[in-house]
Amino acid sequence: MPLYADIVLPLAQPEYTFAIPEGMTVEKGCAVAVQFGAKKIYTGIVWRIHDRRPNVKTVKPIQARLYDEPLLSDAQMQLWEWMADYYMSSLGEVMRVALPSLMKPSATTQSRFEEELFRPRKELYFLLSPAFRERTHLDEVLDQLERRARRQYDALLEIITTVQPDALKTDTLSPEVFETEVPRRLLDSELSVLRALEKKEYILPVEHEPSTEQGKVRFRLPELTPHQQEAYTLIKEQFANGKSAVLLQGITSSGKTEVYIHLIAEVLSQGGDVLLLVPEIALTAQLIERMERIFGSRVTPYHSKLTDVKRSETYLRLNRSQGGSFVVGVRSSIFLPLKHLQLIIVDEEHDASYKQADPTPRYQARDCAVMAARIFSSKTLLGSATPSLETWLNATSGKYGYARLTERYGEGRLPEILISDTLRAARRGERHSHFNQLLLDKIEDTLSRGEQVMLFQNRRGFSPYVECTECGWTARCKDCNVSLTYHKASGRLVCHYCGHSEPMPKKCPSCKVTDLVPMGFGTEKIEEEILKFFPKARVARLDRDAVTSERAFNAIINDFAEHRTDILVGTQMITKGFDFDGVSLVGILNADNLLANPDFRASERAFQLMIQVAGRAGRRASGGEVVIQTSDPRNPVLRQVVEGDYEGMALTQLREREEFFYPPYSRIISFTLRHRDIQLLRRAAVELSAALRKIFGRRLMGPMSPPVDRIRGEYLISMLLKIESGASARRAREIIRREMERFHAQSDFKYIEILINVDPQ
Ligand code: ADP
Ligand code: ZN
Ligand code: ZN
Repeated sequence: MPLYADIVLPLAQPEYTFAIPEGMTVEKGCAVAVQFGAKKIYTGIVWRIHDRRPNVKTVKPIQARLYDEPLLSDAQMQLWEWMADYYMSSLGEVMRVALPSLMKPSATTQSRFEEELFRPRKELYFLLSPAFRERTHLDEVLDQLERRARRQYDALLEIITTVQPDALKTDTLSPEVFETEVPRRLLDSELSVLRALEKKEYILPVEHEPSTEQGKVRFRLPELTPHQQEAYTLIKEQFANGKSAVLLQGITSSGKTEVYIHLIAEVLSQGGDVLLLVPEIALTAQLIERMERIFGSRVTPYHSKLTDVKRSETYLRLNRSQGGSFVVGVRSSIFLPLKHLQLIIVDEEHDASYKQADPTPRYQARDCAVMAARIFSSKTLLGSATPSLETWLNATSGKYGYARLTERYGEGRLPEILISDTLRAARRGERHSHFNQLLLDKIEDTLSRGEQVMLFQNRRGFSPYVECTECGWTARCKDCNVSLTYHKASGRLVCHYCGHSEPMPKKCPSCKVTDLVPMGFGTEKIEEEILKFFPKARVARLDRDAVTSERAFNAIINDFAEHRTDILVGTQMITKGFDFDGVSLVGILNADNLLANPDFRASERAFQLMIQVAGRAGRRASGGEVVIQTSDPRNPVLRQVVEGDYEGMALTQLREREEFFYPPYSRIISFTLRHRDIQLLRRAAVELSAALRKIFGRRLMGPMSPPVDRIRGEYLISMLLKIESGASARRAREIIRREMERFHAQSDFKYIEILINVDPQ
């Protein structure tokens, strides 16, 4: 008889064993309350049930079982296990990101715990008494009530007519009147009146959690073009032929989403579940709306803007669903309990936001989706105009299926892309502030035709650093090793790493001679400057500073969509998922800082970003233009952007990656050591790297200083392991785990944090 349960707690700890008290039934995947440590009560998940008493003095009992049903299916548990193993975290750390916080409270007292735990709210329903199937009885009662208790009469009628509006006009009540639970919230009658009817047993109260009404099963879909139809058929064939993942590579506006819609409809109408992963929900509000127009109430959004109550409700509702659910959500939706999952679509699969940066597990939701498809026996479709090189290699090597869309839908043409040399413009006196004459001319033309412009700059704020021209002093964060960004509107210098801000000094704090000069430029400065050239234009800005709330975000987007603004200046935020029909010119103000990144993915990312920004132009027949300003016009990546030559880019980059043994030809695991004491940290880094080097030899690089080597007062030292893909990766993880334990067992280094990042991006 099983007496013990190994329980996962939301901590960086292994599972602990608790006793199952007599009379309590628990199953794998159940949530329970347990006491752990001195006093604290935690939510835990039952992972294993067995009869081996652990070797400790007392085994604490489980305090309570928390929900009626298990919160995790076997498949979900397998996914968690894979993630914990692959991303080198504990199951507890997976639990921390996987469940909404109200579903996993921890507290020091029982009552506090109870208070915090999410319980789905119940709703009150009323059912008509079956005694009224006898029509004469009903008529008698109604007669009586009409004379003596008018409000009860109205209430009883309200319940009946809510289900059958013409009930009084016919002799026969439909059977539905006796079968339908009428929600209290739909009734106008007062509760006291309803309770009075209840007392007389004319109506019966029923209380339960709100039911999930599933929408229609057949959906009205736009017809696919022959090309789209071909891609659609090919995808289905490849799924049927055993590919669990397929790449759909289609240029912007080619109708990838239309193909998704057809695949989704098919799964839903068969009662299966679909998960559509999207990069950032605020940026994909349009996509959700588009899905809701077709799939109605089937669509379940899941993202960071939802309240925790809503997330918990969603989790439990899906957990009980009989299938036919459709979630549109950000990376954490990979954890939702979709028991009938048949299809996962990862839109813009190359997007970096699928990778969780912090905290651990630093998972990549796209890769998890591919793994989940295997575990759940479902399928994964990866969609992008500019796939990640990892995915593209998998598709072209035959590991994944591969379908393509190479034409824009309808009359839309791809925009023409022009490279504008900033140095040459400067030499010729054709550079004005941050704009080359060419770009200014194009903006002028566009505005005079009554069309719209988007300007892209990947830095927010006014200027990324301020400098004293007299003594060379620059403003730096006191806690981080980075320069402070000047934000003109607030008059402050802001650290983009820790959020610290201080007023902009009037005079140079060092020599006290001159004023400080803002150097470089961010979106705020572009917004200000562009108005000098086009004072009549209506200019708006979209970046993290402008978007103070979801409402502010929507306002900026709607103003632009409805052409109340002419020019939209923005960061990455403007690149994703918008269909603005009126945009015919896109300007990329500085391609240099995209290309010059010291990262092996810099060229790939620059290409993806520029193609995506460019794709915002000319979604209508008139076509469009893109101007890219750069001081390095001969850069091969720029040529590839101009020609829309994804394959050229991919082949060049892959050749380099292969030569230098970078992903996808190797796997990277990075280690970042973190501590306030730089001396201790250096010693630790030397020691750990020596230990790892003994095993991994030249596969280990470092220790080295990361580009920003101090954040929030803590120093950082990193090292990097490049290992062969395949089976040896698992072996490597085992070794690393062992070495980490050994390292932390040394008393000196006990408090040195090591952040492990598998497949860093
Ligand atoms: P992508 O996802 O590849 O960027 P979309 O699916 O958003 O492309 O299509 C671009 C535009 O063309 C959208 O406004 C979409 O409604 C329209 N469109 C694409 N295919 C069709 C189709 N078969 N029927 C009607 N409209 C379509
Ligand atoms: Zn800082
Ligand atoms: Zn100075």
